[in-house]
Amino acid sequence: MKDAAYFLCSSCGSQYEPEGVVYTCPKDDANLEYVPDFSRIARAIRLTELQTRAEPSLWRYLPFLPVGDPGAHGTPLRQAGWTPLYRAGRLAAKTGVRALWVKDESSNPTASFKDRASAVVVARAREIGAEIVVTASSGNAGAALAGMAAAVEQRSIILVPRTAPQAKIAQLLVFGAEVILVDGTYDDAFDLSLAASRLYGWYCRNTGYNPFTLEGKKTAAYEIWEQLSADRFSWDTQPLTVFVSVGDGNIIAGIHKGFRELVQLGWLRNMPRLLGVQAEGSAAVANAYRLGVETITAVKADTIADSISVGLPRDGLRALRAATQTGGAYLTVSDAMILEAIADLGRMGIFAEPAGAAAYAGMVAAAGSGLVGADDAVVVVNTGSGLKDIHSAMQAVGQAPIIAPNLQALEKNLRRTR
Ligand SMILES: *Cc1c(COP(=O)(O)O)cnc(C)c1O
Ligand SMILES: [Zn+2]
Repeated sequence: MKDAAYFLCSSCGSQYEPEGVVYTCPKDDANLEYVPDFSRIARAIRLTELQTRAEPSLWRYLPFLPVGDPGAHGTPLRQAGWTPLYRAGRLAAKTGVRALWVKDESSNPTASFKDRASAVVVARAREIGAEIVVTASSGNAGAALAGMAAAVEQRSIILVPRTAPQAKIAQLLVFGAEVILVDGTYDDAFDLSLAASRLYGWYCRNTGYNPFTLEGKKTAAYEIWEQLSADRFSWDTQPLTVFVSVGDGNIIAGIHKGFRELVQLGWLRNMPRLLGVQAEGSAAVANAYRLGVETITAVKADTIADSISVGLPRDGLRALRAATQTGGAYLTVSDAMILEAIADLGRMGIFAEPAGAAAYAGMVAAAGSGLVGADDAVVVVNTGSGLKDIHSAMQAVGQAPIIAPNLQALEKNLRRTR
């Protein structure tokens, strides 16, 4: 282990100085991974001290991150992360697993997991004095960048498909970002944003392309570890399985990295099993898993879950390895299963957007096929809020009756069931 941080290419293994590279590996364009200085972390923070930290945000893990303290106290940038881990006893009983928790990322400042990445990228942008930060997005990454940037008066430009859910586009506009609607797919917007950032010298946040996104996302693993420990989870004796929905694959790769770092620090003995869940209509990583290959072949993406509707995953290899290196697996779920999952989570007080509910849909499928069962403790990550896509939410549940304002009509329409 080196005693200083560096960037490691996830494909060819080349190492780079932290200040020497900005995006992907100069040799083969593969994703770069930040390797922190573990001895510095161990010096900077003790386990017991971490667990009593007063900072209820991802910034409690500052020594693990490749950025300095961003300040920004009292702003949404400072508030990203430290989302609740809810117990889901009824759904555990329903699916037959030993215990179930839902990590609810909808309570992030802009209501999705993407705030973790955008908070760290914006902190980095300020360190390098970037004038403009650009991102391609299916909606949430853009909303997160726009919100985090607004919090510290950083300028941002967001390229989203014109088909993105209206609520997400509204968020972008309200946060004051320069919003460009692309008449094409997320993949089209991605390619365009790369070309534009090269041409105009903008700092590019793109998921998987900018190595700092993974760094923000890994903090969710630290939190799951801390929160389960506080819930007296016995890591040494109970196997943990974590379900994550996968589009570009950056979230599952980040969660994998977070757990790996805890293992390397000696703070976690048993690596959790990571289960990646993709929509049937957008399953490039799941296809590679099924075929047993590490080549990710692009698909033509088509699913109700817009946040995981990705033709060519930009972090596909690491996303695949998150499952294969932890004894996990990949599953696919139909749009119908995703809608059912929205309703199931809703009945425990959690409002998920389709891509967030997909992880729970995968967990239901896994329980059905015996991939998880009575021996397993499970965490399902809900990655985004249902308020972001109420059109899909309304498809998941029945219509409410409309009645005349009198008791007779009310009596006739009451269901009083459930
Ligand atoms: C981005 C996103 C995902 C998928 O994350 P990837 O890193 O692209 O795999 C899942 N759910 C929601 C709500 C998202 O915004
Ligand atoms: Zn390389």
